[in-house]
Amino acid sequence: MDFDVIIGFETHVELKTRSKLFCDCPVDYEASPNTCVCPVCTGHPGTLPVLNKNAVAFTVRAGLALDCIVNRRSRFARKNYFYPDLPKGYQISQYDRPFCENGRLEITADDGKPYAVGIKRVHLEEDAGKLVHSSSSFDESTHSLVDYNRSSVPLLEIVTDHEKNPIRSTREARAYLEKLRRTLRYIEISDCDMEKGQLRCDVNISLRPKGSQAYGSRAEIKNMASFKFITEALEYEIKRQRDIIEGGGRIPQETRLFDETKRATFPMRSKEDAPDYRYFPDPDLLEIELSEAFVDKIREKMPELPDQSIERLIAQYDVPKEDALILTRNKGVADYFSACAFVAEDRKKLSRWIIKDLFRLLKKGSLGIEGCPISPEGFAELVNVISRGEITEKMGRQVLEEMFEQGVSAESIIAEKGLQPIRDAKALDGFIDQVIAENPQVVAKIKEGSTKPMDYLIGQVMKKTRGQANPKDLARLIQKKMLP
Ligand code: ZN
Ligand code: MN
Repeated sequence: MDFDVIIGFETHVELKTRSKLFCDCPVDYEASPNTCVCPVCTGHPGTLPVLNKNAVAFTVRAGLALDCIVNRRSRFARKNYFYPDLPKGYQISQYDRPFCENGRLEITADDGKPYAVGIKRVHLEEDAGKLVHSSSSFDESTHSLVDYNRSSVPLLEIVTDHEKNPIRSTREARAYLEKLRRTLRYIEISDCDMEKGQLRCDVNISLRPKGSQAYGSRAEIKNMASFKFITEALEYEIKRQRDIIEGGGRIPQETRLFDETKRATFPMRSKEDAPDYRYFPDPDLLEIELSEAFVDKIREKMPELPDQSIERLIAQYDVPKEDALILTRNKGVADYFSACAFVAEDRKKLSRWIIKDLFRLLKKGSLGIEGCPISPEGFAELVNVISRGEITEKMGRQVLEEMFEQGVSAESIIAEKGLQPIRDAKALDGFIDQVIAENPQVVAKIKEGSTKPMDYLIGQVMKKTRGQANPKDLARLIQKKMLP
């Protein structure tokens, strides 16, 4: 049997506002447990939430970046459930009137064509606290600790549409999540650090026979925060569901967990539906009316989006498309390139040197572009020296490594190592005479009219000068010597 795969994402992203969603406690990931807390975010009776305006602005910015309709009127709702990390016994979320709806995010589909994945909604809610299940200070078989620093940190939830342009394969799922993360980083509302739990996904998946219009029942895999595990879990689920359907069985609607060591999904609970949460409008918070001016101002100040960045690099700096795609994967790299490009004379060479050589050193030092010890101006100067032929590419690589290690300019390393090119014809004369004397047969061939052996002679002189001559100069000088 041939199947269509339908994949849905509910992605939770922690916003990098300075304070929490409903109180003025700081959002600080490094702080000691339970030091960024107050009566509001620990759910004490009698306290009242006050909405963080900046979190709303970030939500609208995300909605606009994802081509959503921004609802003029929206409101918060209580989602009721009990969990030790949820001291109020409910989460303040949004239900029937989210801030943003009906958006899209363009990816490259499996057939290589652009495909706009449907976004059903983007809403704002509060994060829960964090349970800590391991610590040296207590018996973890009987105890867990709870840290409320994360309680009420603003959380964006982005839900894809399973009816309108759903994700249809594991590869598309990956492309979607990569593009989403990149977009949210470009608009600077979250660092989306998955290792810190700043971006977490619930992924649901169902299969249906090709051509069928009805949806199969879906399994939801909860709380995943790694591309690798999401891919593995989806592949496992596609196979599991296919086997059940082909064997004549039914897929129960359920929530599953991915076991990272067994690399398989296991049932956690039967899937709860919205009615289980007894959603109702939060009586402590007023309905929100966004003015046109508020939304327009956010639209006007929208940072550059990833696709715009690709187009700009190609149009403004004549960077080849495949390089532009690599340079814009990370906004920091795109910014670094743009800063270099002001100074660099040869932008194609610049992009190659960033992608090949700078990336290699960053990787070796486990550094991100933010940690790069070479300023964009300094890097561009090095590329200029190379593109003017003042030093060879090979020397350039040596110089780059020293710059990287010592944080000094290309110029001073070139001077210190005596790598300046020998431009003085007299200084080269001796080397050329030597090479001509050592290679009478080659010289004879050139004199007979063959041009190819010239490269050999140039190479020999380069060797003697330890690469410090300009090959173009040499060609001219050697030719001159050979004139009768
Ligand atoms: Zn607080
Ligand atoms: Mn949620």
